Amino acid sequence: MSDYKQDTLCVQAGYTPGNGEPRQIPIIQSTTFKYNTSEDMGKLFDLEASGYFYTRLQNPTNDYVAAKIAALEGGCAAMLTSSGQAANFFALFNICECGSHIVASSSIYGGTFNLISVTMAKMGIEVTFVSPDCSDEELEAAFKENTRAVFGETIANPALTVFDIERFAKAAHSHGVPLIVDNTFPTPVNCRPIEWGADIVTHSTTKYMDGHGAAVGGAIVDSGKFDWMAHADKFPGLTTPDESYHGIVYAEKFGQEGAFITKCTAQLMRDFGCIQSPQNAFILNLGLESLHVRMPKHVENGLAVAKFLEKHDKVIKVNYPGLESDPYYERAKKYMPNGGCGVVSFELKGGRKAAEEFMGKLKLAAIETHVADARTCCLNPATSTHRQMTDEQLEAAGIPAGLVRMSCGLESSEDLIADLAQALA
Ligand SMILES: *Cc1c(COP(=O)(O)O)cnc(C)c1O
Repeated sequence: MSDYKQDTLCVQAGYTPGNGEPRQIPIIQSTTFKYNTSEDMGKLFDLEASGYFYTRLQNPTNDYVAAKIAALEGGCAAMLTSSGQAANFFALFNICECGSHIVASSSIYGGTFNLISVTMAKMGIEVTFVSPDCSDEELEAAFKENTRAVFGETIANPALTVFDIERFAKAAHSHGVPLIVDNTFPTPVNCRPIEWGADIVTHSTTKYMDGHGAAVGGAIVDSGKFDWMAHADKFPGLTTPDESYHGIVYAEKFGQEGAFITKCTAQLMRDFGCIQSPQNAFILNLGLESLHVRMPKHVENGLAVAKFLEKHDKVIKVNYPGLESDPYYERAKKYMPNGGCGVVSFELKGGRKAAEEFMGKLKLAAIETHVADARTCCLNPATSTHRQMTDEQLEAAGIPAGLVRMSCGLESSEDLIADLAQALA
């Protein structure tokens, strides 16, 4: 399958029915699986045989869809999680433990920022945040003896900064640690981070992959390119015996291509149980079947809206990496020559009052805490996600009170622009 183009992979990768089998992915709505002998089942518990025994760890429907996402990203193995939050937590916690340190881009999704800086800190995992545009000296200085991973987002939600994947991958590798990239916004249709050196790719499939605002979910993809054994002292979880499975060593038994996802499933899914329901995996797959058709339209609408807003006299500033005036234009062109996504943010004259009034007048764009949906939606961080902050704090965080984040859906760009024009007037 991996020789096919993205369009074909979106439609057909991951599941190939046999003679007389369902054409569409079957939803295996079963918590458990039947075996003829205890010995058969025992082999699964010892990781001696592959198969299913309990849906808290693995389910065939999920695995068909994960295999499609692995193919799209050019990875060797993947798993689905219950949410994007669970995907990022698992990807990091699979190689970090109490006493570890992470280097992360400061320009990332707020939920991930909290996860790393607050919740993982309580587990004894430290972080150093660096600007995605930091100097080489600053980046080098962020690494410590106990650094175990580097983390960033291809296009950050909601700042829309573009991550220099190749540069951060080189820095991570020179310190013997992997680069984890959250590729939610561009999706593998517009960017494949593994081709630029990323080792692990994560997704909130809740966004464009589902694309219809129907199912919360996440995914983790392993490139299979990181040599855990070459840095064995840093990753004991992968390179020393796991007593809960009779002392198997993941990197030895499952090799470079199987170790990461197998450990993540066998330990973290077993213990935390953040599995995606097979029903949601089925819905996600319906979204994936048209991802390659939808993404260019999201990009087309995002660019059209950004260009319209840029010329409007009530708009102070527009952030959209596809605009030539955007500071990330060149970097976006390198990593995403066909465009990034449909999310645009812009600052209105008149602060939060103007933003609230403007959004109230929109007819097509609904006010929602969501992005990357077929239906256009918008949000004013100052009066919603960031409402505890003062105008001064918002300014300092690069989220001015008059900022509106707009996720352009799949409607006609003419209608979207007409709606913006009447609301601005
Ligand atoms: C939404 C989002 C997440 C969190 O995903 P959920 O599915 O909401 O848990 C993580 N990263 C990015 C970039 C996101 O946009």
